[in-house]
Amino acid sequence: MVQRVTLIPGDGIGPELAEATRRVLDASGVAFEWEVVEAGDAVLQREGTPLPESVLDSIRRNRLAIKGPITTPVGEGFRSVNVALRQALDLYANLRPARSIPGLVTRYDDVDLVIVRENTEDLYAGIEHRVGRDAAESIKIITRAASERIARFAFDYAVANGRHKVTAVHKANIMKLSDGLFLESCRTVAAEYEGRIAFEDRIVDNMCMQLVQKPELYDVLVLPNLYGDIVSDLCAGLVGGLGVAPGANIGTEAAVFEAVHGSAPKYAGQNRANPTALILSGVLLLRHIGEVAAAERVEAALRDVIGEGRAVTHDLGGSAGTSEMADAIVARLEAAAAPSS
Ligand code: NAD
Repeated sequence: MVQRVTLIPGDGIGPELAEATRRVLDASGVAFEWEVVEAGDAVLQREGTPLPESVLDSIRRNRLAIKGPITTPVGEGFRSVNVALRQALDLYANLRPARSIPGLVTRYDDVDLVIVRENTEDLYAGIEHRVGRDAAESIKIITRAASERIARFAFDYAVANGRHKVTAVHKANIMKLSDGLFLESCRTVAAEYEGRIAFEDRIVDNMCMQLVQKPELYDVLVLPNLYGDIVSDLCAGLVGGLGVAPGANIGTEAAVFEAVHGSAPKYAGQNRANPTALILSGVLLLRHIGEVAAAERVEAALRDVIGEGRAVTHDLGGSAGTSEMADAIVARLEAAAAPSS
């Protein structure tokens, strides 16, 4: 069976990483058919919107997409295509695993965290306005429905993946109503999993300090949108940086797989960016569609290449380009697939 996937190359370093990821997934043993569509600034000039309906239609049809990063203008210009996509398709769960990779020198060797970030509301709902000339207001939306839904996703993920504990992260000591409702919703859902998955909560500032000092104490974290965005970058830093941090945006109708990092415009077109994060997002896609053996093959090939340290990009201490690193991973996959003589 051929698996159709929408491929959004994105901009900045996106197209190079998307190409590397497509090549690696094509060597995974799963037959893919890629429907390439564009979004972002280049499309805005042509079609009057950075996120044309045809892009959403393609993802709805295929139910799966891989997406390179897309630049969002700071302070002015169009709203984030990334946020709009998650809202339009109700991709309510942002899954961001942070796992140590052998051979990558970092402060810790054994980090294994899964960040589950609520993806549709909070301060990212985009409801903000100026109040006169010298003030501005952003509205933080937290609902019981969205909070219970993300908490349930975190607990179900924990059950399905042999995890033991979920930690809810909040600032309910200060935002007693909004974050208080998030925490209350997590506690309600936690009660359904009592005896199977442990539950605790942490205030977000304390959580950041603890993650830096004792990441081994934590397992699955569930957070509202803004804290999830920030804490997942912190966790990426624990395992080698943004170049190796994958992500998935999952809803009931579709799932879009993308790296945690952005479009790093200063490296665009230089064949210099690390493709690992987007390739590992592809591994999440393989697991999502039940292709576990293929996911393990790709992950093993990637880990071997990083462990060997010869064909890795600059951020990992090597001198290989994006495409050379992809070549090395593809070569490993092909060698593993070839019948031994
Ligand atoms: P960024 O993640 O693009 O870059 C931050 C730094 O991380 C870079 O300077 C680079 O040193 C490093 N880095 C990131 N990805 C790397 C890779 N694959 N290989 C090697 N090094 C890498 O963050 P930024 O500079 O804050 O954002 C740039 C643009 O990306 C902004 O317009 C932002 O809105 C957008 N963005 C998009 C997404 C998305 O598409 N989902 C996510 C985050 C940021």
